[in-house]
Amino acid sequence: MPNNFLKLSVTRTWYNRKLPVHSQEWKKLRQQAILNYNHSCRFCGISLTKWLICDHIDGNASNNSLDNLGINCPGCDAIRHCGLSGIKGWLILRHSPLKQSEIVKRTYDFYLTNNRHPRPEEVDPLCQKILKHPFKVNKEVIGEIDNKEEQEIPSTSVANLLLEHDYEKLEGIEKIKGFFTDRFSLNFLNCKRQTPVENKEKNLEIKTEVPPKK
Ligand SMILES: [Zn+2]
Repeated sequence: MPNNFLKLSVTRTWYNRKLPVHSQEWKKLRQQAILNYNHSCRFCGISLTKWLICDHIDGNASNNSLDNLGINCPGCDAIRHCGLSGIKGWLILRHSPLKQSEIVKRTYDFYLTNNRHPRPEEVDPLCQKILKHPFKVNKEVIGEIDNKEEQEIPSTSVANLLLEHDYEKLEGIEKIKGFFTDRFSLNFLNCKRQTPVENKEKNLEIKTEVPPKK
């Protein structure tokens, strides 16, 4: 399964990390990865001047080869680490037909347009609270959400399943998507990178260049 589509995930190998985040060696690798990805998130494509996170694409925290280092924006990174995000109260789960990366993009667009955090319904009018949802592996029920009180379900509930079962084997999980609560700050969007100005002036320079003397 390709790792370039955004889905609710957990990192099972964080304790295997070889390079500490504050080490010079890691900082250099991160900088190189940011350049390789042109300062843009590999999932939603947003371009930021700050706050980009360097992530191990294969989920193996000890594999620091450059082609295993991808760049995530904070929102997509929160989806990639839905256990931690659930504990922090950043992510809740809803049924939604939208792609996960589309939910991130719409959340950003809403915030940038309206200057406030959107409710899940404002991101996807078709999303629904999860009332009952069985999780199956090989057609056998291995867990269930049973939500009679109609509460918001934190993302930790799927994180615990994902610690033991691969996403691809967990039947029904693809209907469940993460939405951001207002505890997840979208302030980093103030560091949105402007698309570079067209290099029209450069072309002009070439035109006015003095032709070589014969
Ligand atoms: Zn992103």
